[in-house]
Amino acid sequence: MKVLVVNSGSSSIKYQLFDMTDESVLAKGLVERIGISDSIINHYPSDREPVITHQDIPNHRVGIKLMMDALLHSEYGVIKYVSEISAVGHRVVHAGEKFSGSVLLTDEVMDALKECVELAPLHNPPNILGIEVCKELMPGVPQMGVFDTAFHQTIPECAYLYGIPYKFYKKYKVRRYGFHGTSHKFVAQRAAKILEKSLEELKIITCHLGNGSSITAVKNGVSVDTSLGFGTVAGIIMGTRCGDLDPAIIPFLMDKEKLTVEGINKIIYKESGFLGLSEGISSDKRDLRERANQGDERAIRTISAFTYGIKKYIGAYAAAMGGVDAIVFTAGIGENSKETRAEVCEGLEFLGVKIDPEKNKVRAKEAIISSNDSKVKAMVIPTNEELMIAKDTAEISANL
Ligand code: ADP
Repeated sequence: MKVLVVNSGSSSIKYQLFDMTDESVLAKGLVERIGISDSIINHYPSDREPVITHQDIPNHRVGIKLMMDALLHSEYGVIKYVSEISAVGHRVVHAGEKFSGSVLLTDEVMDALKECVELAPLHNPPNILGIEVCKELMPGVPQMGVFDTAFHQTIPECAYLYGIPYKFYKKYKVRRYGFHGTSHKFVAQRAAKILEKSLEELKIITCHLGNGSSITAVKNGVSVDTSLGFGTVAGIIMGTRCGDLDPAIIPFLMDKEKLTVEGINKIIYKESGFLGLSEGISSDKRDLRERANQGDERAIRTISAFTYGIKKYIGAYAAAMGGVDAIVFTAGIGENSKETRAEVCEGLEFLGVKIDPEKNKVRAKEAIISSNDSKVKAMVIPTNEELMIAKDTAEISANL
């Protein structure tokens, strides 16, 4: 069974074609700069050289058509007929409160996703567009939706409600949703496998640390709390997003700096985090580490605020779950930065976390990095959201 995974963003489309018999990737690619000048199609067949093509791509329809052309190409394609694709799995950022799992994208589901556009105005429209074009270009091939928010629908009311008038929850569905759900679910499942335990008996804290970051408490296999909330800006400090703020800061800054809604949004989503705290050094963690190693105070304070935030969430989630068996690090920073992992775990010995500096030298591969006598297992698990989407898609498809 072959499953195509599509992640349709505002100006790019990422794709991967899986052979689910052995979960291998037949080809993957990235269509970039859609609707902007100098569009590019990067196609990587697994058994051949990459093919990079420059071509005008005015819209997603053309982008997805070019993705199909690449997959079917006589020289560098990996399938002969569209009918070889058993199902398509789409990444969708926001599915609101209606879906706690992946589903077949029927007309009713599409309507529900459109209702969520106002909750994710930057992400859901290109996700929906990608699905509509795939439905059109691959008639008869089942299309599934895998939602970033779905895994977090198990979060209890006490953790998803904010302390504002309840009428705003009823009227506008203002609540914690959480994101990166596919990643948190994937690494939690892998952690259980590696530890040779059932996921249902474990308390795991998953730290997805990338450009966007979130931390999730996974108890008995389900998400019970997560650091991102209503939007994608709360929780720990991110590349350009601010993380948790005292709400009083928003009206204060709007008043002082005479900001519009758009202006304050630009600050909290695009100009804060690593970039803002470091006074413009970089939104990229590697640059900050390099500058911190040279003694740059701006980089040092930014990294300290970042790791302190993660540590605080780990403590909070251990309390929320009544303990913790494993802490998992994933995504760009979590998988690669031994310094971040060491700094986060430093001082958590009271909780039973003991990092082994030798084991912690690992990069981008699955490993237990805590010492043998550590009560809590610290782990590195590379995330693979595409494989998780493909697995969900194959499972739904098998039951159609
Ligand atoms: P996205 O959220 O865009 O998917 P990624 O998961 O790719 O982000 O993570 C990007 C972050 O990972 C950047 O801050 C980058 O600096 C960091 N990163 C990547 N490689 C390393 C590394 N070797 N050491 C430290 N940080 C790294």
